[in-house]
Amino acid sequence: MKCRKCTNRAAINMRQHKLALCPEHFIEWVQQQTERFIKKYRMFTRDDRVLVAVSGGKDSLALWDILLALGYQADGLYIGLGIDGGIDYSAESHRCVQKFVEERGDGLTLHVVDVEVLYGASIPEAARSVARGRGKPCSVCGLTKRHIMNRVARDEGYDVLATGHNLDDEAATLFGNTLQWAVGYLRRQGPVLPASAQGLARKVKPLFRFYEREMAAYALLRGIEYIYDECPYAAGATSIRHKELLNELEISSPGAKLQFYLHFLQAREQYGIFQPQDSTVELHTCPTCGQPTTNPEQCSFCRTWERVREQMTKRPTAKATNP
Ligand code: SF4
Ligand SMILES: [Zn+2]
Ligand SMILES: [Zn+2]
Repeated sequence: MKCRKCTNRAAINMRQHKLALCPEHFIEWVQQQTERFIKKYRMFTRDDRVLVAVSGGKDSLALWDILLALGYQADGLYIGLGIDGGIDYSAESHRCVQKFVEERGDGLTLHVVDVEVLYGASIPEAARSVARGRGKPCSVCGLTKRHIMNRVARDEGYDVLATGHNLDDEAATLFGNTLQWAVGYLRRQGPVLPASAQGLARKVKPLFRFYEREMAAYALLRGIEYIYDECPYAAGATSIRHKELLNELEISSPGAKLQFYLHFLQAREQYGIFQPQDSTVELHTCPTCGQPTTNPEQCSFCRTWERVREQMTKRPTAKATNP
């Protein structure tokens, strides 16, 4: 199959767009499309300082690469979660991020926050001590990552926080939320989450219209080394099953995933359903960390980590084992 724009062999065929492109034109297309989405959804401008949350996976590193190629002021934030899982998950993902930075030479800023160094326990240890070893650490992990991202964005003066969520992630989340009619979550879903007056950073997802396979192809063609393995705790997650279901649908109806998500945004715009209602939620300031919270007292991050520290001092030898 030939590239639509030249006579070279196509490296990727995107059935939903009826578009096949060679490596050079595919890279150009991804970067131009990202620029278009940033402008269309008013995510940020070249005057803004952007903090990119990089996990070491293909999407977040591709996002950082694209923003740098487009000339945006983009710095990285890596959060060390202390997850091993028999595959050195955190160490390996950190190595990929570090390699990305080194390959691009001086002038790139990477903030590194190690959860264990800063708060005294890795994510699996923290989860074990508050949940007494039951279940996965994902809720502690999500809570901690959100807190750190917001704190670094605020303390370091960034205008916007960008994450590498792709269309497969967003469509699967939307699917899950719709199955449950989780109105609160549906209201918060979207490519742009505005900053709150009380100090929550503005959050954007510039890759939300790209399929996962397009991001994998982009990372490969740009020579970005990334961690292939998912976090070991992601295994068996409902969102993975939702992704599989949507992929099955996509095979018989190319573009189904994209239409599902775009029609959701369109319905919100046209009919006013699932409008974000952030302004109606009263926020307080956490007396411990100073971040906004819906709780009139301490925020859930501070409460959780206080409990973790209490439990860790009670059981100093109860070191957690990773999965
Ligand atoms: S899957 Fe892993 S990285 Fe994701 S929230 Fe769970 S523990 Fe954290
Ligand atoms: Zn071409
Ligand atoms: Zn707090």
